Amino acid sequence: MQNIKSAAELQSKMIARAKELLADGTVNRVIGWEKGLFDYDVTPAVFTSADGLDKNFVYNEYCAANLSKYLIEETKKEGKILAFLKPNDTYSFNQLIKEYRVKRENTYIIGVPCNEEIKSNEDGTLSGEAAPCEFCLGKTHVVKDELLGVAEDETADKEAQNAHRFDKVSEIESKQPDERFDFWRAELSKCIRCNACRNVCPACSCIQCVFDNPTLGVDQRIAANSFEENQFHIIRAFHVAGRCTDCGECSRVCPENIPLHLLNRKVIKDLNELYGDYQAGEKVEGDSPLQSYKESDANPSIIFARSEACESHGGKK
Ligand code: SF4
Ligand code: SF4
Ligand code: SF4
Repeated sequence: MQNIKSAAELQSKMIARAKELLADGTVNRVIGWEKGLFDYDVTPAVFTSADGLDKNFVYNEYCAANLSKYLIEETKKEGKILAFLKPNDTYSFNQLIKEYRVKRENTYIIGVPCNEEIKSNEDGTLSGEAAPCEFCLGKTHVVKDELLGVAEDETADKEAQNAHRFDKVSEIESKQPDERFDFWRAELSKCIRCNACRNVCPACSCIQCVFDNPTLGVDQRIAANSFEENQFHIIRAFHVAGRCTDCGECSRVCPENIPLHLLNRKVIKDLNELYGDYQAGEKVEGDSPLQSYKESDANPSIIFARSEACESHGGKK
């Protein structure tokens, strides 16, 4: 990590830079994380003064929340906001720009190292034991005004971590159909419909979610049966298909530890196989495979043949 020896040093550099940008009028507020009673007790927060930053701003290994979704509301306000974004958060932010949900011109983005990389030893120095993140895709900042604590060329080896991104999905695909069904039933039956996965998801930015519609009988209540348990997750996965940035926030916040990212990653893998490699959030320009039509696109007969092949090969495609 570029010239950074401890999480505390990175945090003080972030505070110092935020104060400079507030003082020179580049931004009128800052979104980051606020300390709580304990180290792990951190909350996304907006700071408007140098004093507030000095007293309450924190950046440590527990600052996992993806701040990009908060920018939907924040960028509707007057003036620019400084946002500290981790690599994967920048994919979500880019996708929100693409969907006209955030205003890029109302932001100043500083790319910072992932919180997973700033785990500390007891003496406060960096442990250097950053494990490849199981949940999220992004290892590079795809949008930023400047970087802090991370160099442009530091990411090449991290990209290699993505080589095994679909391993778990492939493992599930290789199971027999009834084993796959049982796997997902066992996971989804734990769901308490707290809505945390939807609420945290940057792709779930609808002004009114279908699951909040009081006329459908599915709003604000726990699933009544296995059909409803499956329904919520399958509908949500389809709604974010081609838009999910693989940030892993849905899995991270689930109080039941349901590996939701695997469901969304399965959709990403299928889209890659059917339409060619595509990663939502990587670029603002261009159409997602599900937003455009090409004659070479997979048509229903190809998809049907693919699922037939899957069944006849004992679950393996
Ligand atoms: S966060 Fe977990 S428990 Fe809550 S609705 Fe989503 S899957 Fe269900
Ligand atoms: S579905 Fe999950 S992984 Fe995909 S964008 Fe939403 S929170 Fe991130
Ligand atoms: S589940 Fe569907 S309707 Fe609800 S917020 Fe997500 S994308 Fe929108």
